[in-house]
Amino acid sequence: MIDVEVVERQAMAEVGAAKTVADLDDVEQSVLGKRGALAAAHRQLGAMDPEQRRSMGRVLHESRQRLEQAITDRRVHLAASEREAALAADRLDLTEAFEAFGPEGRGHLHLTTRTRLELEDTFVGMGFVVAEGPEAETDWYNFEALNIPPAHPARGMFDTFYLELGEPETVVLRTHTSPVQIHLMEEAVRSGTLPIHAVIPGRCYRRDTPDARHLAVFHQIEGLVVDRGITFADLAGTIETFTGTYFGADIHSRLRPAYFPFTEPSAEYEITCTICHGGGCRTCSGTGWIELGGCGMVDPAVFDAVGVDRSEWSGFAFGFGIDRCAQMRHGIADLRALIENDLRFLRQL
Ligand SMILES: [Zn+2]
Repeated sequence: MIDVEVVERQAMAEVGAAKTVADLDDVEQSVLGKRGALAAAHRQLGAMDPEQRRSMGRVLHESRQRLEQAITDRRVHLAASEREAALAADRLDLTEAFEAFGPEGRGHLHLTTRTRLELEDTFVGMGFVVAEGPEAETDWYNFEALNIPPAHPARGMFDTFYLELGEPETVVLRTHTSPVQIHLMEEAVRSGTLPIHAVIPGRCYRRDTPDARHLAVFHQIEGLVVDRGITFADLAGTIETFTGTYFGADIHSRLRPAYFPFTEPSAEYEITCTICHGGGCRTCSGTGWIELGGCGMVDPAVFDAVGVDRSEWSGFAFGFGIDRCAQMRHGIADLRALIENDLRFLRQL
């Protein structure tokens, strides 16, 4: 005879020991299934007399009910803790991600981005608005409207990447941010919203082999002012104000005659050497000055190209490299450090 009490006690222990819902399924199969101990005991009922069979049958039935109840309870408990474990495993642990960046914390904006934002802030403080434009331009916007006709020697200064888009017009990656000047003036003429006081930051491209002072993909910021009665003195004053505000009160600017196709007259824009503060050093070749960018009065040919009436309006433009600006301000010997993603360099900034 099978001892139902022993069978039930054993089965209860197995149910309690099941660690997962899958374990519990196995236990249920072995205890309550057709090959289980209870089923075997049930089969013995046939050999008993009616009285014995009835009382034994009741014992078996009650035992099975208790086991079924115990299995159900255990299953609810196991399913809940399994779900909890799955949720805990799936949870996005931000603390861990934070630590993955190392003791410095969350990282920071790239020096070029930070420099662009600081320059924008400085110019906005001087009354300029920030404008942007496309990085792929037609030949008209990048060259012709800026007084650089086809085959003009100045195109040699701006060799770039050409895009084969199968369009009637040549499309290039812009070599400077100046095409945005054309967009701004065209729009202002169309909508009658002259004057313009804007700075234009953005990415530019030239087919330069990268070296300590050049990158094939670089960043410029340029300013455009078109208003009534604008003179060269306004240009010089704007540049001096910017230089002192951005680089510090002991840094000044000076202009030297130069040539650019889209300004007339044109000048190179130099500032006090930030390394020697004007005393003369190797970086500035002993002159006390370093070149930052170019500037000049908007060429009448450019006004004509965009339909600005030059009997009423005049203006100036200036521009320089954001990467160069960062290089000077932070004393970076080689511009290529800005694009190499060497953490030993980036962590210093
Ligand atoms: Zn110097």
